[in-house]
Amino acid sequence: MDPPPSKAIRLLQLGRADELVGSDGIWMCASCLVCGTRCPRGVDYARIAEACRALVLRSKLSKVDPDTVTPPELEEIPQQAFIAAFRKSSV
Ligand code: SF4
Repeated sequence: MDPPPSKAIRLLQLGRADELVGSDGIWMCASCLVCGTRCPRGVDYARIAEACRALVLRSKLSKVDPDTVTPPELEEIPQQAFIAAFRKSSV
């Protein structure tokens, strides 16, 4: 697995999350939770890898761009619909 969980956490500490999100390692994690149960610092790497995978997958589905919404649309469409669309269909 590259990067392994310890190196992945270090990348996050250094603000290099893009490297982790773009790595193969997040796809290798089987979410078995072994590293999390053994981690002396209580880091739940399986959830971190899952979040990174969600970022990658959602970025491919990004269909709603808040900058393209026109003022008439803002007045016409219920705000809850916008919020739901942004949550589900954008990064
Ligand atoms: S959760 Fe399991 S598969 Fe994922 S990094 Fe930890 S030990 Fe490896």
